[in-house]
Amino acid sequence: MNNRYPRLEINLEHLRQNVATVVEKCGGQGVQVMGVIKGATGIPEVAKAFDEGGAAMLASSRLEQLEDAINAGITKPMVLIRIPMLSEVSDVIRLTDMSLNSELEVIKALNAEARKQGKLHKIILMAEMGDLREGYWDRDEVLEVAEYIENKLVNIQLVGIGTNVGCYGAILPTPEKLEELADLAEKIEERLGRELEYVAGGATASLMRIWDGNIPKKINLLRVGEGILLAMDMDRFYHYDVSCLHQDVFRLKAEVIEVKNKPTHPIGTIAVDAFGHTPEYVDRGIRKRALLAVGKVDYGDYKDLIPMEEGIEILGASSDHTIVDVEDATRDYKVGDIMTFDVCYATLVYLTNCKNVNIVFV
Ligand SMILES: *Cc1c(COP(=O)(O)O)cnc(C)c1O
Repeated sequence: MNNRYPRLEINLEHLRQNVATVVEKCGGQGVQVMGVIKGATGIPEVAKAFDEGGAAMLASSRLEQLEDAINAGITKPMVLIRIPMLSEVSDVIRLTDMSLNSELEVIKALNAEARKQGKLHKIILMAEMGDLREGYWDRDEVLEVAEYIENKLVNIQLVGIGTNVGCYGAILPTPEKLEELADLAEKIEERLGRELEYVAGGATASLMRIWDGNIPKKINLLRVGEGILLAMDMDRFYHYDVSCLHQDVFRLKAEVIEVKNKPTHPIGTIAVDAFGHTPEYVDRGIRKRALLAVGKVDYGDYKDLIPMEEGIEILGASSDHTIVDVEDATRDYKVGDIMTFDVCYATLVYLTNCKNVNIVFV
């Protein structure tokens, strides 16, 4: 079954080099990089590439992925970057060195568990800057919680403050937004009478500040996944030059199982497709189309797939099939041929999570 398709090819050397390049660029501006492995479902080889490329710590939203990284022999600090569930507190303490937090109740539970396991657990408090996912909105509340942790919780070490942007609210990490975080960090430091080790200014989108060279001095940690795995996104979404990074870490390859000339408009009474939707079809006459043995179950939405060849148009998909117009393709597609696609973040998450997809390292 080793030769089977669909296949996701991962170029580990290019990934390692991307990590090293981002680590170096950030390091030049006094910023450490947390390597976020969740975009590739924490595949241990991917985690190792983040480690070898020089990420200061490894991070994921899922404990299972961090456990796999530990079992793969990685000894860097592990960080849970999704607010911990109360139900997973004992595993958070067992597996990770640090977590991002926004609820005192959870922090108290982490403290009790850390005492039980004889550990000191580090936390970064998350502050809301307007993206409206996780974090404290009320500035006084952050200060009070910081003070409480400092004075009352023996097994919790407050090491920093952080924020998340560009996820739900699609808010940009402008210099002003990050200055706001830096100001809050200073207020906490004043209240505690000491410096914070980390001021964590966001994720991939914050690399814009590194590229522009205008990240506020106080920001010294970024959590980066996407920008390293799929460097192209920095260009696609924000129009930044990422030619210093490899764009070909991931490639999806799928096999052609049927090639036929067919009408472009369905024949009969149109009702609903395999997923209960009623799409619209344009009649372009008879055209040559290829059927691929890969589908929504493998990658999610076909609109997120990017064909690597000119003249190829993805028409649609069902669970296990993808229908492609190859009338204008440069290649004369035949049954058994392999078609190659670039992926985006959403497709990558699905592909690496799907046990039907053969992961191959090149
Ligand atoms: C996913 C995530 C990241 C990494 O985001 P990328 O866009 O992949 O760099 C950083 N921080 C938090 C809190 C996250 O959930």
